[in-house]
Amino acid sequence: MRQNAIATETVSRPRKVERVVAGQATHDGDGVKLTRVLTQTMQRRLDPFLLLDAFGSDVAEDYVGGFPGHPHRGFETVTYMLAGRMRHRDSTGNEGLLASGGVQWMTAGRGVFHSEMPEQESGRMEGFQLWLNLPAKDKMGPPAYRNIESDAIPEFSVDGVTARVVAGHSHGVAGAIQREHTEPLYLDLHLDAGAAFAQSIPAGHIAFVYIYRGTAAIGETTLPRQHMAVLANTAGSDGVQLRAAHDGPARALLIAGRPLNEPIAQYGPFVMNTHAEIFQAVEDFQAGRMR
Ligand code: MN
Repeated sequence: MRQNAIATETVSRPRKVERVVAGQATHDGDGVKLTRVLTQTMQRRLDPFLLLDAFGSDVAEDYVGGFPGHPHRGFETVTYMLAGRMRHRDSTGNEGLLASGGVQWMTAGRGVFHSEMPEQESGRMEGFQLWLNLPAKDKMGPPAYRNIESDAIPEFSVDGVTARVVAGHSHGVAGAIQREHTEPLYLDLHLDAGAAFAQSIPAGHIAFVYIYRGTAAIGETTLPRQHMAVLANTAGSDGVQLRAAHDGPARALLIAGRPLNEPIAQYGPFVMNTHAEIFQAVEDFQAGRMR
């Protein structure tokens, strides 16, 4: 959904890069190859985000196994497809086809059991899955599911950059999803060679940038493809400035949000606040209470 940028983001004290993290090759589901960008050791620093996986392959055997039936409790999964088709089915009766450019925003709440299976046997499959935590008071709330097709994601272009606004606000454009408490910002940025993009971000929010094509820089720090920059929460900073390298275009995710500052207890697909709640989640799943 093309829109016009209706506001300028003024960033006069940009954040610096605190740390550059290389994505780690791994696999999940039924042998799906992926790059784990945000790992469990970063959850405290990147609160409210719990995980970011990037997947991308032209080889069917890297993805055809998909993610057969499995449960979740206590957080939200956000799946953004760049290319390919994935079929979602869950225990609340929801079913949807996630296609190129689209987003699935699933709130697991007290529990869903779902499958995420490729609906293609050849060609390119590429995208991301982000896990966003829920505040303690909402972890046992009702599950919810939204499938947002590519055309329904607002996008605008400014100074050689096209931004797709999955969540939050950018340049006066409201994203497809708004969430209270964690106030997530989720931008997919396509930068021409040498183009720059500015985004205001409250100093207290965590923010990170993941480069998935080309090379870009934040301040003095050059970021190669498949690397994540954790941005410093310097007091008085007002946002981020990102610039693509002069020798080619770049693409990046810019993700930010307000920390929950609550205890994090994770066991696989369950993310709660205490070990007792995790024990309860396992018991509820084994007793069939998430189906
Ligand atoms: Mn899942």
